[in-house]
This record gives sequence, structure tokens and C-alpha cells, in this order.
Amino acid sequence: MTALLELAEVARHFPVRDALGRARGAVRAVDGVSLAVPPGSVLAIVGESGCGKSTLGRLALRLIEPDAGAIRFLGEDLRALSPRALRARRRDMQMIFQDPFASLDPRMTVEDAIAEPLRLHRIVPRGGERARVAELLERVGLRPEAARRWPHEFSGGQRQRIAIARALASGPKLVIGDEPVSALDVSVQAQVVNLLRDLIRDLGLTFVLISHDLGVVRHIADRVAVMYLGRIVEEGPAAEVFADPRHPYTRALLAAVPGMGAKAVPIEGDPPSPIAPPPGCRFHPRCPHAEALCRAEAPPLAGGAHAAACHLQSRLPPPPVLRGPDRG
Ligand code: SF4
Ligand code: MG
Repeated sequence: MTALLELAEVARHFPVRDALGRARGAVRAVDGVSLAVPPGSVLAIVGESGCGKSTLGRLALRLIEPDAGAIRFLGEDLRALSPRALRARRRDMQMIFQDPFASLDPRMTVEDAIAEPLRLHRIVPRGGERARVAELLERVGLRPEAARRWPHEFSGGQRQRIAIARALASGPKLVIGDEPVSALDVSVQAQVVNLLRDLIRDLGLTFVLISHDLGVVRHIADRVAVMYLGRIVEEGPAAEVFADPRHPYTRALLAAVPGMGAKAVPIEGDPPSPIAPPPGCRFHPRCPHAEALCRAEAPPLAGGAHAAACHLQSRLPPPPVLRGPDRG
């Protein structure tokens, strides 16, 4: 089956300059990532902050330009599209951002915010917008009367529902959520996660969930890709990655989740600088299993449908038995 979204060896480096504007290297935010997202599936991209996952999400929708690699949407190369063709394509690809306080324009009523993409893409005939906005509000669990109000009149969770309605307005095939619940109160996170899960199922959406919260990921993802310093270090079916993590970094991430490891153990050390990533396996300075080979050679992502980028993946001791996360 053709992937809805496919990335091949995508890279994006951000130049770093000193106070005098002199080039001082580059942050290798995304450094050769390949991924395929089949239609109707939910792929979660997980990792610590700064691993490149948000940059990857923006690259996938061409909100920012890659330095290298191919990005295909339904087999079509997004990088080859003219600005005009890309704008038309945006109807099919939408993003939900972390912060609904920033992503909604405070000077627009809820109706205008949701109707904007309808107008932009000429989706409903003039005069039909109000009914479509009401329908979208209902889909996200809000009353149609909300249309006449302003974003500041709503709580964080309600605002994120409005942002979700706006993202769904154009009838996208692909939605990317960049930490869509992490700015919300813990008490409403589960409600918004459940809403997303229901929408994905009912609308047959293809969804890419960018998240550092493995409890959320476990709740809705079909597949998981684990990122570390700009690269994918493990990728596989969510149930397998959680039950049988193959990469030492994935194991450490899971063990660090309160309630998931026998006892939450923080990962040792900070991630090294993405400006000068360590040679060989980028995880070696923090890996308890590192050997000489790990310091010398970068391990390829290998293993088929459940793959890991670790030289020792066939020789590692079995992972500790993990419990489910405490949160639902
Ligand atoms: Fe650890 Fe070596 Fe595997 Fe890297 S390749 S994760 S350093 S064992
Ligand atoms: Mg981020």
C-alpha cells in the first residue's frame, strides 16, 4: 500500500552564529530520517525535548524547508510543488500545535477562526460556512453557540478543541499533532486525547503524534518512532516497542516514566550537543552497554518491521518487565 506520507533521508541543519554573526557550525536538528506512514494509521514520534521531533513534523508538512531528502505525500514530491500547488495541497495536511493560546488569533471569533480554512480553500459555498462551523464544533464536543465567542473566553482544553476543529475544517487526510495536550492541565489531557482518538477513528485520519509523553502515545499510536539527536533509533508497532524495546535509549525512556518502570530511573546524563553529536552511535556517552565499536561506527536502523539502530541489539539482555503507565 502506498504510504500517505513518506520521508526519505530528510535532513535539516540550522546554522549557529556567534554574537558577531560568524558561522559557528550547525544544529543538526534532523539528520537523515526515513519514515513511511500508511493511510489510516497513527505514528507517534517520541523523544526528549530537543531531539528534533518538532522540526521533523514541520518538515513533513513543508512548513520549513529540508536541506536534503525527499518528502512524498500520496506519492507526490512535496518539494517539487510550486508555492501555489503547495497551498492547495495544504487542504489535505494540517497541524495541531502545542499551545492553543498562541495558535488561535485573539482578534478572530471562533467562527472566523474555523471558517478561515473553509474560505481559503473554497470548501463550502458562500453562506454555508455557519452550518459547517456548527458541525465542526459539535464534532469536537463544543456547543454551536461557541462560534460567536472569542478564544479568550475559553479554557485551555476548550481552546485546543477549537484549534482541532480549525485543523479539521478543510477535511485533511493527514494531521500532525505537535504535543497537542502537553500545555493543558493534566485533568483535561485525557479528555482531549480521547477526543483525538475518536476523531482519528471516525474520520479515518492519518495522524502523526509528536510527543514526549509515553502515556499519551500508548493510548493512541499504532506505530512508534523513537528519535535521539536528530535520528530515529527505534521504530516498530507500538505494542512491541512498549513490550520489547530493543534500543537502550528506548529502554531508558520507558524506565523513566513514573509507574512504567519498576522504579522510575531518570536517564543518565544530558543529551550531547546536536551541534557536535558524538561519533559512532550518538547514544554511546549515555549507554550502559557501549563498546569500542559503538564509539567508532554509527549503527544502521536494522530489523525490519521492528527496527533498532544498535550494534548490540541481538546481544542485549532482555528488557526489564515494564508495567503499563499509571495514567489511562
Ligand atoms: Fe549502546 Fe552501542 Fe547500542 Fe549505541 S550501538 S545503543 S552505544 S550498545
Ligand atoms: Mg517540540
